[in-house]
Order: sequence, then C-alpha cells, then structure tokens
Amino acid sequence: MNTHLDNKITRRDFLKITGGVCIQIGLPSIFLYSCRAEPSPTSTATPSSTSTAIPSPTSTTIPSPANTTTPVETPDQANLGFEPAYLKLHETGELENRAEKLWAIMESCQLCPRECGVNRLEGMSGFCHSPGSTLVVSAHHPHFGEERPLVGTGGSGTIFITHCNLRCVFCQNWEISQAGTGYELPLDDFAAMMLRLQEVGCHNINFVTPTHYSALIVKALVIAAQNGLRLPIVYNTSGWERLEILELLDGIVDIYLPDFKYWDSDMSAKYSSGAENYPEVTKAAILEMHRQVGVAKPPKDGIMQRGLMIRHLVMPNNVAGSEDIMEWIAENLPKDTYVNIMAQYTPQYKAYDYPEISRRVTREEYVKVVERAQEVGLTNLDIQGYWWMPE
Ligand code: SF4
Repeated sequence: MNTHLDNKITRRDFLKITGGVCIQIGLPSIFLYSCRAEPSPTSTATPSSTSTAIPSPTSTTIPSPANTTTPVETPDQANLGFEPAYLKLHETGELENRAEKLWAIMESCQLCPRECGVNRLEGMSGFCHSPGSTLVVSAHHPHFGEERPLVGTGGSGTIFITHCNLRCVFCQNWEISQAGTGYELPLDDFAAMMLRLQEVGCHNINFVTPTHYSALIVKALVIAAQNGLRLPIVYNTSGWERLEILELLDGIVDIYLPDFKYWDSDMSAKYSSGAENYPEVTKAAILEMHRQVGVAKPPKDGIMQRGLMIRHLVMPNNVAGSEDIMEWIAENLPKDTYVNIMAQYTPQYKAYDYPEISRRVTREEYVKVVERAQEVGLTNLDIQGYWWMPE
C-alpha cells in the first residue's frame, strides 16, 4: 500500500496531511506517550482523528538506505553548521567499532543494570523480554509533545522501541514497554526510518527507551550516517544505565534525556520490578552523561543540539523523593542544568494496586517541588502549567 510518505514531500505538506500532530503505526492511543515522560496536558496536541496511519511495516515503503543515492540533508541543520557527534566517529571507523563492541555484549547480555547474562545473539530473552538480537519498533513520528527545545517547528523525530528493562507498575506505555506491541524491523529499515524523519524536517532522532537495544541502535546508526543522517541523537532513557555502556556511547549521543525517577531505593524496588539500585546507578549515570555532553544550551534558534536534559516526574505522596532529587542536582551539577519538573503523573497500568500512587499529583505537591528547586538555586527549570491540577 502506498501512502503520501512514499513520495518526497515538503515539511509543510507533511504537517498539513497529518494535521501537524503525528503519524502513527498501527497503534490507536499510545503514540503520544513516552513511558517515562508523557507530554504535558497543557502542551500536548491531541491526535487528530484524521491522522494518517503509516502502513504496517511489512508494507511500509520507506526507502532502503542501500538504495539511497543522494545523502539527505536537512537545510536548517546544514545552515547552522551543526555536526552531530557521531559523524567524527563514523569517519574514523570508530562508530562501527563501538557497534561491534556493544553487539558482542549481547552474547552474555549486560546492556543494562539487570545484567541477565542471557545469550541474545542466540535468540534468548532476558528480563526486558527483548527478542534476542531482533529490533522491535512500535511507532515513529515527528513528536510535538516533547520538551520545547527538542520540538521546534519540525518536531522531535521520535522512535518508540518496544520492551523495557525497568517495567514500572505505573507505566503509561505498558502496551509498548511490557506487552511489546510493535513489529520487527531489519536494521536497514530502521536506518531508513531515521532518514525519513530527517527528510520530513524533524530536528533530532529521539530513541525512546533505547537501553536494551543500544547495540542495535548504534549498528543502524552506522548505516544511517553512511547515507546522510545529520541530526543529533537524543538518548531518551530511564536514567538507569551502566557506566560501561555509556562510555561506549561517548561521542555518539548528542543529547542525553534521562529520567531521575526515585530518590529512595525502597521505592524503586517496589515500583520498578526490584530495581533497588536505581538511585545509585542513575546518579552515576547522570554525572557521566554530563561529563560527555555538558549543560544543554540551545543556540539562537532555540533548538537543542547537545547537552544533558533531566526529567523528573513528581509522584503522589512524595514517592519519588522529588525535593531530595532537586537538592542532589543542585549540589552535583551546574546550577543551570536543564531540569523538566513534570506534573502529569496519572495512575495507569497496575498503579491502582498501590493506593499511595492511585491518584494524580495535587497542585500543592507539585508547587512544593518547584519551590524547592528554586530555593536550591536551579535556574534552568522547565515548569509546567499547573492550573489544571487538583487542589
Ligand atoms: S538488556 Fe535485557 S537481557 Fe540485557 S541485561 Fe538488560 S534486561 Fe537483561
């Protein structure tokens, strides 16, 4: 089946066709949500009922990179003289080398702090339920509900990847992260997907929940870079990352977008499937991310190209330990570190099994966290409107 995406189209045409919202692959209601950071209700565009669905992957005619003869260029990036970090590594062959190293780690998988040790190269699945070394994608589209410096006018080129190593009981994206709703995609097609997002005018390639697929992502990135990808890579992660893996991503990722979910290990163990070392591992990971990319500071046009952007989701009854987290950030990172304090927690999935997290956050709870962040001197806060929140 052919769609309007089969032909070259301008960004304006694309937005007109899709209602300026998004395109979607086969899933009815989940594509606006990141499991870790849903767009703010105040800023999220509701999916248009006329949104055009991309056909199933088997019929998607995204061009294969192998057939792409002319490197694709995004004019606004080219004009700014921006060069993503991974291009240098690609030129020297180091990008491919890193991909091979990450790939080899799947033989006794330790791509994430679960360190299952299963042989994914022989098709085994570990705690994350990723199907061996096969990539499964749920959706891809220009996303207009992400942080404003990532969205601009063209949207963030978001790719939702299935499964998850953290498996939170309140996950809003559980169909993707835990039921694994998606489709298998060869790496060539995955690379072509990145190129297509660039072609329609997205400002970055935003991998949602990349941790357990990092080896496959970097392998596909080699193909995409070879065929003209020039957009910054956003690593949109739960924050629960091994330092050894982050070191292999050094010089590949341009923008780290980690959550800092919990301050207390009892909480992370309780709500994220026994991940009791989440606070300790995430603190170390965030420091390493900052070492690699520094403070996120957009150039004049306001579109972020490099840096660390932290997300924190305020939860009911201070389950997340939000004020402690703000204090830690202020003490351990520059005061102008970008911090998005998110207000949109909504009980989903198994959250109703836990009375303390079975309601929304109140206005008072949210404001308290914002005030604490300001008191400790954080100056680059992304604060969401809270007029709609319950008193
Ligand atoms: S990525 Fe999956 S298989 Fe590998 S260590 Fe983590 S949970 Fe286990």
